[in-house]
Amino acid sequence: MSSEAPIHVIGAGAAGLMAAERLAQAGRCVVVHERMPSVARKFLMAGRGGLNLTHSEPPDRFQRRYAEAQGVVTPWLARFTPADLITWAEGLGQETFVGSSGRVFPKALKASPLLRAWLARLNGLGVEVRTRSRWTGWRDQALAFDTPDGERIEPASAVVLALGGASWPRLGSDGGWMNLLQAEGVAVAPFRPANAGVDIAWSPPLIDRFAGSPLKGVALSIGDQRVRGEALLSAYGLEGGAVYALFAPIRDAVERDGRAVLHLDLRPDASVQDLARRLSRPRGKDSLSNWLRKALGLVPVAVALLREAGDIPTEPEALAARLKTLPLTVTGVQGLERAISSAGGVRLDQVDARLMLTARPGVFIAGEMLDWEAPTGGYLLQASFASGVVAAEGVLAWLDARG
Ligand SMILES: Cc1cc2nc3c(=O)[nH]c(=O)nc-3n(C[C@H](O)[C@H](O)[C@H](O)COP(=O)(O)OP(=O)(O)OC[C@H]3O[C@@H](n4cnc5c(N)ncnc54)[C@H](O)[C@@H]3O)c2cc1C
Repeated sequence: MSSEAPIHVIGAGAAGLMAAERLAQAGRCVVVHERMPSVARKFLMAGRGGLNLTHSEPPDRFQRRYAEAQGVVTPWLARFTPADLITWAEGLGQETFVGSSGRVFPKALKASPLLRAWLARLNGLGVEVRTRSRWTGWRDQALAFDTPDGERIEPASAVVLALGGASWPRLGSDGGWMNLLQAEGVAVAPFRPANAGVDIAWSPPLIDRFAGSPLKGVALSIGDQRVRGEALLSAYGLEGGAVYALFAPIRDAVERDGRAVLHLDLRPDASVQDLARRLSRPRGKDSLSNWLRKALGLVPVAVALLREAGDIPTEPEALAARLKTLPLTVTGVQGLERAISSAGGVRLDQVDARLMLTARPGVFIAGEMLDWEAPTGGYLLQASFASGVVAAEGVLAWLDARG
């Protein structure tokens, strides 16, 4: 590392740009590299869904979303809290609001105004952003980049790698960095999809009539884990928030057993007894669908799912039980191409608390390229931003200690 050289931040996503901002605010000379022709494409894509920046739930619940990585991620969240993220977004002119699910969004419900203001701030801080600059590894202590003008070799005083995970590779994060780090002796966990849809072998008539239909106000469970939320029936199976919240245990069961059994509760607010009582009313001349609609307000897709699970019980108790625990057999999960995020990446034991690689002092890692995962709900961006802050502070402390 050359103490006179700039700090290079590689990867212009949420984590990298946040690290660049913090470093530049500390008066450092910062160059950001992005392999794509424009920056933050995944952040902009997140904006298409309204840009769920973070979540308003209490810290202990928030931290549990990171499952096994909770112990490592919690200090990042303490350093850059959801409240800090909201203040930051508002400082860039983006007022936020808390949605009914507790998720936090910018009022604009998109990423482009926030990104525009952010890039202007970075520009004002003197950060140089180079697009079409793909990092290809080290040449001795210097960094090598593939650019339209050929290979560029850049000395660095420190490096932040924020190259992202491997989902939606066409947006830029393709996980191509894995070999480069493995060659340096850095242990990585293979990429796996996270927050993706799951495969269920629906019958052709169900697909024909109901692909694209939402299932609102349902609950899904696997084993003893249960979530309330929404799902969307698709031709290949199911997707949506409730599925993503259970994605890790579903994926793990499919990898282990070749299948997973989910239970769908079509009426989570009512007990079996409640439903059975309402189903005891005589059906008269009504068709089954009409009767279920009148008695329980079941929408047609819900009735079709009941039918899909086999003969519909005639006994009120048995029918009520079926409505509360409709079995769905998952035969596979969707791949990385359309997963919202990925599990895997640089193993968390390869970095210290400042996010510096033990195998490569002066190189810090931030964002989704580290091996943590979380459901949708704002947890992905929150941890990506927060780790960018921690890595930047790590760089500053490391450079200060070197004098
Ligand atoms: C459809 C979709 C919707 C989402 N919605 C939300 C949401 O609402 N809320 C939420 O919290 N999260 C959401 N996410 C997830 C969130 O966008 C990511 O977790 C977050 O962007 C990760 O940030 P990052 O900086 O770690 O990586 P990225 O944003 O992936 O940035 C990494 C950057 O590094 C660049 N790069 C990679 N390799 C190289 C190289 N060799 N040289 C130079 N540059 C390189 C990439 O091109 C990329 O721009 C969504 C994701 C998707 C796909």
